[in-house]
Amino acid sequence: MKVTKVEVTYDVAPPRERPNRDALQVLDGGGTVKVRIEAKDGLADIVAGTSSTGFGRLRGAPGALAKLIEDELAPEVVGKDPFLIRGIRDALWRLTDYHGSTGFSLLGISAIDIALWDLVGHALKQPVWRLLGPVRDRMPAYAMVGWLNFSVEELKPIAEKAAAQGFKGVKMKVGAPTLEEDVQRIEAIKSIIGTEMRLMVDANQVFDLPEALRRGRVYQELDCFWFEEPLRADNHTHLAELARALDIRIATGENDFGKRQFRDLFERGGVDVVQPDLRRAGGATECLEIAAMADAFDIAYASHGGGAHLHLLAAMPNAIYMESGYLPEGSTLENGCIPLPEEPGFSQPPWRRGGRE
Ligand SMILES: [Mg+2]
Repeated sequence: MKVTKVEVTYDVAPPRERPNRDALQVLDGGGTVKVRIEAKDGLADIVAGTSSTGFGRLRGAPGALAKLIEDELAPEVVGKDPFLIRGIRDALWRLTDYHGSTGFSLLGISAIDIALWDLVGHALKQPVWRLLGPVRDRMPAYAMVGWLNFSVEELKPIAEKAAAQGFKGVKMKVGAPTLEEDVQRIEAIKSIIGTEMRLMVDANQVFDLPEALRRGRVYQELDCFWFEEPLRADNHTHLAELARALDIRIATGENDFGKRQFRDLFERGGVDVVQPDLRRAGGATECLEIAAMADAFDIAYASHGGGAHLHLLAAMPNAIYMESGYLPEGSTLENGCIPLPEEPGFSQPPWRRGGRE
């Protein structure tokens, strides 16, 4: 089988009417890059795989990424056997070395990697998770719903809705201007979810070490399950210092790129729950390798976002959660879990079909 075509399209999202905000940034709409890879085996029908890379902000980025994939990465993929995914991944790392294979290039490599796994699933008429030697056929999910732009009063119905949809964990943003405001917001959600559901807090990298220590001690007193991105993602030394000083689990990883950055994070002891992002970590192949490495360090894995990650989590012994938003009206989880879909490729649960990655 040979890849015959790589198609790249993109759209730029209109500004959001009420953008979500965390402690670092306003997510005011970016856009999506779609990759479609076609392959053919002699006279057999064409098989295709797709991926979709979303940007929560940066309207210039989708066009720039589409151009990088189309002009630089795609020619390296055409003519190759689409089953040689690690070979293609390694060739793309070498190709992008001159301007840096991590960072923006890795989003392009990931987009190709995910489309190739999807293609393989379609070629074999199997959902990708079934090809990976899975450990489970359903995955616990939690709901990230407590954005910083919501008032204290608005947070309560948000937590109620997540509980009604069957989630057993919710996440909220912290890093309000004062610790007192953070506490007020955490207590508002706790008043709804009680002790039955877990609450995670996410600071999106904004604290320095003394402030992360000061606030972290309070979050752990309030029985929060993990403290996410307390510090700059690339300061593995300070993350390790914080992890040693606090009892609460330190979660980070959505802004680390490639397995070698993760290896450094693990060796230093800077994380208890690792949270790779498919786009930035390097795609499905790289995330599987990062999960295996984390497992050897006894580090739990909880994906940043869902989409294709759902299938990978099924094959990771150390996976504890998939991150989700709300489900559409009328949908509910089964005992806090998403059942793995049976359709070929990176198939999605009924409420995600046709949706964004
Ligand atoms: Mg986060």
